[in-house]
Amino acid sequence: MGCVIFSKVIGLCRKVIGSSTSPVDEVAGATTSGLAVETIPREQHVVSRSNMSVNAIKVLNRLNRHGYKAYLVGGGVRDLLLGHSPKDFDIATNATPEQIKELFKNCRLIGRRFRLAHILFGREVIEVATLRGHHQETDEGNLSKQNDSGMLLRDNVYGTIDEDAERRDFTVNALYYDIADHSIIAYGGGINDLNNGTLRMIGDPATRYKEDPVRMLRAIRFATKLNMTISEETRAPIKPMSHLMKSIPAARLFEEYQKLFLSGKALDNYKLLNEYQLFESLFPMCADLLEDNQGGKEDKLFQLVCANTDKRIASEQRVTPAFIIAAFLWYPIEVQAQSVMNESGLSYYDAMMVAMNDVCDAQCRSVSIPKRFSAMARDMWGLQLRLPRRSGAKAFKLLTHPKFRAGYDLLLIRGEIEGGEVAELAQWWTTFQHAPEKVQRDMVRKVSGPRRKRRSPKKKTQD
Ligand code: ATP
Ligand code: MG
Repeated sequence: MGCVIFSKVIGLCRKVIGSSTSPVDEVAGATTSGLAVETIPREQHVVSRSNMSVNAIKVLNRLNRHGYKAYLVGGGVRDLLLGHSPKDFDIATNATPEQIKELFKNCRLIGRRFRLAHILFGREVIEVATLRGHHQETDEGNLSKQNDSGMLLRDNVYGTIDEDAERRDFTVNALYYDIADHSIIAYGGGINDLNNGTLRMIGDPATRYKEDPVRMLRAIRFATKLNMTISEETRAPIKPMSHLMKSIPAARLFEEYQKLFLSGKALDNYKLLNEYQLFESLFPMCADLLEDNQGGKEDKLFQLVCANTDKRIASEQRVTPAFIIAAFLWYPIEVQAQSVMNESGLSYYDAMMVAMNDVCDAQCRSVSIPKRFSAMARDMWGLQLRLPRRSGAKAFKLLTHPKFRAGYDLLLIRGEIEGGEVAELAQWWTTFQHAPEKVQRDMVRKVSGPRRKRRSPKKKTQD
C-alpha cells in the first residue's frame, strides 16, 4: 500500500522526504517546540487547484490579495494528496475572525469553543479558521480554558502556522497548501506518514487525548477511512484512557457517531471501537449486552446492521442515522422490557412501550439523538410490535405506514439473526408486499383464522 499512496502523494514513484537519494528541494526544519517542518514546492506534489472547490480558491485568493496568509489545510490537502476528493475544504489564515468578516459579505462567525468564520456560497460552506496559538496558563483574555483534567474547553488564542500545526491532531492532517506559492508545508513528517500509511498523533498522545478525548474516536475513523495503521505510541494510550469519553457532551458525540457509522466504514469502525473499548462511550447499553453475551446474537446483529449500511452507501442508496440507532437499541429494549414486566407485571406490549422510552432516554445521555431521528426510531420499534398483527385490514394498513420500509428492514435483519418465527414473519411480509391483491387477501385470511360470527345484540328478556 505504501507505494500506491506514495506514488499518489508526489505523482512520481520516489520519496519526497527522508531519502538521501531522491533529488528533492524541500526546505526542512523544526518549529520552536521541535516539530519537524518541511516545504514541498509546487513542482514536487500533485495538489492542483483544478481539484479544489472554486469557492475555496476564491476565499484563499481574496485573503491573499488583502495581505493575509491563506492556506488550504487538514483533510482537504491530505485527501488531494491521496487522490481522493475531499469532503470539505477548510482554510486557515492569520486574519482574525473580525477581519475575515470585513472581507466577506457572505460570512457568519460561529462557535464558542473554537471561533470560526463560515463563508456561505449557496449550499457550500467554506470554513475559515484563524491560526491557533498555544493556550495560555493564565487566562487573562478569557481566550482559552482547560478543566482540571486538562481538557480544552475554549481555544481562541491566535498564533503562527507553526503553533497552529502543533494544535492539530495527526501528522497527516497537519498539511498546509499555501495559496501564495502553491507549496505544501507539512509538519511532523506528515508526508512520510502518508506514504507509509501511518496515523501518528502530533505531540504526546496521552496529553492530546486528555485535551480532547474525541481524538481517540478520530484515530479510529481515520485509520479505517484512510486504511492506515495507528502508530504504537498513538495507539497505546487509547484503551487506558477510553473512560475520558464520558466527559464529552452528548450533542458532540452525535456528530461523531454519524461520521463513524454513516461514511461507508461502519463495520470496520464498529470492530475497532470495540477493540479499543470506545464502543461503550457511544452505546453503553449495547456494550453491556456484548459483554454479557460474547459472540452472541447482539454482536451478530450489530455487525449485520453495519455491513448493510456500508453496502447501501457503496451503492449510493439513502441512509438515515435513525436506522442504526433503532436497530442497535432493539435488544436493549427487549432486555429492559423483561425487567419492567418482572417488576411491574405489565403486559408484554405495555412493558415494551415503557422500555422504549427508558432506553431512548438513557441513550440520549451518551449520544443525543435529534427529535426527528428518535421519532423515526420509535416508529420502527412500534412497527416490530405491529407487524405480527396482520388480520383483517391491518396488514394492508401497515403497508401504507410512512415508516413501513424501515420497520420491515429491521424485521428482516432480526429474522436473519434470530431465525424461527421472526424469520417466518419477515418472509411473510416479503411475499405480501409484492403479491397481487388476490394472493394478499388469501395470505391475510390464512393468518386471520376462522372468521368469528357477529353476535346479534342480546334481546332484553322480560321477567
Ligand atoms: P474529514 O475527511 O473527516 O473531513 P478532516 O481531517 O478534514 O477529515 P475535520 O473534522 O474536517 O477532519 O477537521 C479539519 C482539520 O481540523 C483536521 O484535518 C485537523 O487538522 C483539525 N482538527 C479537527 N478536529 C480536531 C481535533 N479534535 N483536535 C485537533 N485537530 C483537529
Ligand atoms: Mg474536513
